[in-house]
Amino acid sequence: MDLKSGYPWWIVRNGLPSQFAPLAADGTCDVAVIGAGITGSLVARELAGAGMDVVVLDRRDAGWGSTAASTALIQYEIDTELAELSRRLGEADAVRMYRACVAAVDEFASIAGSVPRCGITRAQSLYLASRRWHAGRLRREAELRRRHGIEVETLEADAVDARFGIDAPLGLLSAVGASVDPYAFTRSQLAALARSGVRVHDRTTVVDHEPHARGLDLRTDRGHRLRCRHVIVACGYESQAWIPQRVAANRSSYALVTEPLRSMPAWLARTMIWESARPYLYVRATRDHRLVIGGEDDRIDIPLRRDARVPGKAATLLRRLARWLPDLELEPGFAWAGTFAETADGLPFFGPHPALDRRILFAMAYGGNGIVYSVIGAGLLRATIERRRHPLRRLLSFDRIG
Ligand SMILES: Cc1cc2nc3c(=O)[nH]c(=O)nc-3n(C[C@H](O)[C@H](O)[C@H](O)COP(=O)(O)OP(=O)(O)OC[C@H]3O[C@@H](n4cnc5c(N)ncnc54)[C@H](O)[C@@H]3O)c2cc1C
Repeated sequence: MDLKSGYPWWIVRNGLPSQFAPLAADGTCDVAVIGAGITGSLVARELAGAGMDVVVLDRRDAGWGSTAASTALIQYEIDTELAELSRRLGEADAVRMYRACVAAVDEFASIAGSVPRCGITRAQSLYLASRRWHAGRLRREAELRRRHGIEVETLEADAVDARFGIDAPLGLLSAVGASVDPYAFTRSQLAALARSGVRVHDRTTVVDHEPHARGLDLRTDRGHRLRCRHVIVACGYESQAWIPQRVAANRSSYALVTEPLRSMPAWLARTMIWESARPYLYVRATRDHRLVIGGEDDRIDIPLRRDARVPGKAATLLRRLARWLPDLELEPGFAWAGTFAETADGLPFFGPHPALDRRILFAMAYGGNGIVYSVIGAGLLRATIERRRHPLRRLLSFDRIG
């Protein structure tokens, strides 16, 4: 499965900043994390921090899966609005999830603060009503969030215009948000973990697994065996191959980065913008004054067809952004596309699958907020291994889909 097309900016910018060797001998560990993307790196960090002996394996180079294609807006606002999530799950669970996401943004920013050169930047998030008739819904959404202690400001059309110069029927402004270079974050964090004793091996595919009384044996394409007590499957969208059930639909999403702007309004450097239409358009700045623009999602799941669409989609993204920011002169730099997966309720799956050995735990951070989900999942999976309760365990388990 080819997870990305075109030229993801983060790989162009960073190249291969650190090296990890393939697994070259049999071994043992407490936990084997399969997948060295941003999810695997956050889970490995959490488990190693709890004193577990962790090995991370990846079939590609670390960070070269969907992580490299991510535009990495770190937002508590998930693709399913709180009101809609409340209708699906009940208000108590929906609010619990939103609050966990708010906390996860802060936790991620704090983790990334100690990861060198990952470009972590705190930013506010402006959610625009795409159509006049979305405005009422968004007003009610903001009231619901505020009622549950989630701070958000409602900006009527004239306030959106006065503060941001954008023509939109309404906006919701949230202070909690961030952005990061997801590839630099992942590789840099894995390198730090490797220095502190976590064994990281990329270019090593796990081809088989076999349960036994005291754990599981993983077999790699290079013929080696790794014996562990638990396995975390953090294989991104390829995790679905591990379970006998379709839990998400694959989509393609498109992105481009501009050349650095000659001048960028100060507010734009610290504001991520997105909208209430689905699929949505979104934009955020990088530290070197580029804009990352994304959206135009479609149902294409065939890499060659997706590759062919990248130039046309990039042109559409630029044209659509001009509706919001007509005065900016934007020169396209690099464009790319990547696979992501959508679940019916927009929530991820963490934990064991009922049809498989309970010591195999999944970290399927599916959805537009995959990075925030990964932060939540890391703590949840640690609690599961340590046999502790976790407030989101049931909600994010496979049990919710039967
Ligand atoms: C265009 C785009 C934009 C996005 N924007 C955002 C955003 O703004 N904010 C946000 O939060 N999320 C965003 N996402 C989603 C986010 O990128 C994902 O949640 C995240 O990258 C998933 O990381 P991961 O580590 O789970 O998966 P991956 O990065 O795909 O890592 C999984 C790894 O598992 C490895 N693997 C698979 N099978 C095996 C095997 N058998 N043996 C060994 N290794 C294996 C793969 O090689 C891969 O490296 C976006 C996604 C895309 C595509």
